[in-house]
Amino acid sequence: MVHYDVVIIGGGPAGLRCAEVLDGTDKQVLLLEKNEIMGDKVCAGGLTRKDLAILDLPDEVIEHKIYDTALHALQYKSETHAPEAFVFTVNRKTLAAWQAKQINGKNIEIQTGVRVAGISKDKIRLQDGSEIGFQFLVGADGVNSIVRKHLKIPNEKRLIGIQYTIPVKNPTPQLELYMNSRLFHSWYAWIFPHADNLAIGSICDPDIITPKKLLSNLKTWLKDKNIDVSQAEYHTWPISYDYRGHQFDNILLTGDAAGLTSGLTGEGIYQALVSGEAVAKIILNGETVIPEMDEILRYNSIQEKILWVFIKSGPLRQTIFKSIILLMNNKWVKEKIKRSFS
Ligand SMILES: Cc1cc2nc3c(=O)[nH]c(=O)nc-3n(C[C@H](O)[C@H](O)[C@H](O)COP(=O)(O)OP(=O)(O)OC[C@H]3O[C@@H](n4cnc5c(N)ncnc54)[C@H](O)[C@@H]3O)c2cc1C
Repeated sequence: MVHYDVVIIGGGPAGLRCAEVLDGTDKQVLLLEKNEIMGDKVCAGGLTRKDLAILDLPDEVIEHKIYDTALHALQYKSETHAPEAFVFTVNRKTLAAWQAKQINGKNIEIQTGVRVAGISKDKIRLQDGSEIGFQFLVGADGVNSIVRKHLKIPNEKRLIGIQYTIPVKNPTPQLELYMNSRLFHSWYAWIFPHADNLAIGSICDPDIITPKKLLSNLKTWLKDKNIDVSQAEYHTWPISYDYRGHQFDNILLTGDAAGLTSGLTGEGIYQALVSGEAVAKIILNGETVIPEMDEILRYNSIQEKILWVFIKSGPLRQTIFKSIILLMNNKWVKEKIKRSFS
């Protein structure tokens, strides 16, 4: 049986970031991705400056640099033009290919089209029945993680994401978010511009609005906005924000597998990158205190508290949304937001 110091399951942002940090070290690493092409994941592909501070992406990987946003709550609207771009859209396959290209060391082996089918204490089993031994196992295998299941960690706090990809020539490079309590409850609908399409979608807790109802609500909203989806691709994928730890002896969880996505916004790439890096440091140095990891846990916890307020506010929710818009249109607040973007 072949043996590696580290086996990483999953070639998403978390797994690839972990491999990059282990690149060039004395650890023999195997990264396994079940799809032939990495990065094929339902996602709006929105990154922030925090992501770019980690990834330093070249312009050719970025589809749009976004300076303009519009936040809506029914007829109310707040528009912001930031002095510097603060959201960046990417194609997830391009992002994964670029991340993989950064890994050059002989100690890292990446295999695609290989699905891990089983896990035991110190070895994994592939779909063809072969076994691979490990000293450390990194679960970077997303929301339906086989590693998390092996650890018997429940995954109760889940959202459902739905999204249309609509072909559009030269879309306006503006990010739009729509809060509408009746249609999207405590969450929102988004429009993210990409190179030749718009990603339009929404998220919700399926116990609050069923996925079928969420889709019907999104369709109502799209019709109201005169957006034609007859040529669009439709995708749906769950999101987990049920974080219960990332280190379990020699098994580590990252990104969506660890439940690190924001329960409010659905943002998870940054958390995936930070946790991928954090578990690599744990493997390399046995570090247990990782400030960046604590910071994302704090960030997610604040987002969850805001979500809790939105959920509990019932009929007052739309009024809260409207108040957010009015507040954002206040001259002093607008100036503060602008400054925070520069
Ligand atoms: C509709 C929607 C829109 C979103 N939009 C945004 C956004 O705009 N910005 C943002 O920051 N986040 C967004 N997210 C969240 C973001 O997509 C995830 O948080 C992010 O992809 C997590 O990265 P990851 O590496 O942890 O997992 P993933 O990207 O899911 O990668 C996991 C990888 O593991 C592989 N894998 C799984 N099981 C196995 C196995 N058994 N063997 C081998 N390989 C396996 C998968 O094929 C996959 O490639 C969105 C999510 C949804 C659902």
